[in-house]
Order: sequence, then C-alpha cells, then structure tokens
Amino acid sequence: MIAQQLKLIQKSIQDYALKYQRDANDIKLIAVTKQQSLKAIQTAIECGQTDFAESYVQEAINKITTLHNPKLIWHFIGPIQSNKTRDIAAHFSWVHSLDRLKIAERLNIQRPNHLSQLNVCIEVNIDDESSKAGVKPNEVLLLARQIDALPKLKLRGLMTIPKPTVNFNEQRQAFAKLRELQGQLKHEGFLVDTLSIGMSDDLEAAIAEGATCVRIGRAIFGSR
Ligand SMILES: *Cc1c(COP(=O)(O)O)cnc(C)c1O
Repeated sequence: MIAQQLKLIQKSIQDYALKYQRDANDIKLIAVTKQQSLKAIQTAIECGQTDFAESYVQEAINKITTLHNPKLIWHFIGPIQSNKTRDIAAHFSWVHSLDRLKIAERLNIQRPNHLSQLNVCIEVNIDDESSKAGVKPNEVLLLARQIDALPKLKLRGLMTIPKPTVNFNEQRQAFAKLRELQGQLKHEGFLVDTLSIGMSDDLEAAIAEGATCVRIGRAIFGSR
C-alpha cells in the first residue's frame, strides 16, 4: 500500500513537472510521517525514500534515534517552542517552520559544531489568518536579514501552509504570492533556492507555482 502510494506520488510529480515545464529533479519529495508508525517509515525507506518530515519534537526524536540511519534527511515542519530548539538543532537537517528571531538565535547557538549549517525556511502566513503560525509577508525581509547574520543557519527559502481550499486557482494564487516574496528576496541578493509548498491536496498547484520541496503525508501513508 505505502509502496504503491509512494510510486503514485512520484509519478504525479513527474507528470505535473512535465505539464508545467519543470525539471522533476528540482522537486524534492518529503514524506511527512507525523503520527505514523516506525514500520510505515521503514517501508518507505525500503522504497528508497530518504527525506522525512515530522511536526512534534519528542515523537520525532524517538523515531530518529530508533532508526539511527545516517542516510536519512530529517525536516522539522511543526510549531517550535523555545524549550525544544536544542533537540531540533541536534537532530534535524532542515527546519521549514522558522518564524521568529528568538528561535533562530537559539537554533544558531545550539547547532552542534560537528554538524553542517542547519537549512532553514521562513514560514509565511500567506493568507494573513489570525490564528496561524508564520510571519506576515511584509516581515519576511527583516527576518531574512536577521537569519543571514547567524553563521550556523543557512537560509534556503520560504514555506507556507495556505488556507485550505479545493479551488485550484485559489490554491495557485496563494502559492504565487509566496513565489513573489521569494523573488523579492532574490532581488535583495539572498541565495534562496527553496519553495516549500504543496501537501496531499494541493500538489499540482504547488508544482505549477515552482515548488522545490513538497511535503506529502496522507497521500502516501493514509489518514492519521
Ligand atoms: C501534516 C503536514 C503536511 C502533510 O499534510 P498531508 O495533507 O498529510 O499531505 C505538510 N506540511 C505540514 C507543515 C504539515 O504539518
């Protein structure tokens, strides 16, 4: 089941890449394994999947240390509390959900010296929803400058979780706004190569708007 679903998603990524004149190699599939079992993750690993994302720190650390597989690349995509930054800095290669200077500073200080820079994306609240994580679009540039000054962090790009909608054009519009913000950062001289957009229900819209990382959970592992 997981093996088949994984193949289907890989095929979709290739089909959409072709449809929107993109190179499928520029689109990294990240398997979102929050609330999924170790066995499910093992199955995906056996299928060759190497990039995995988690949203809850303790659950993630348990899985990462149990699997203990240096080939895997772990992405943190959940809300970040100050008291969890040390664990995140020690166990992850990427953080997609960075939205505060204080957290960035802690990750920078706590990133172990034997590890390479922590790759980070700024999470943007693209639809300006009151209860949602992420910086406002007009706050992105300031936070990008602040992150740029932190030597153990490497700013890679932007991430967003838009307001859910089944309307394809609305999905694209939200992602297009994020793509424009990335363009502004590039214009300011930032070497940002990552647009972390696209989940199970908006994969096509994300690829149409330039996704370089897609974060897929349910479409691979089933409902949580
Ligand atoms: C859970 C989650 C996903 C995966 O969502 P699916 O709908 O299961 O594909 C992607 N990104 C983030 C930030 C998530 O929390």
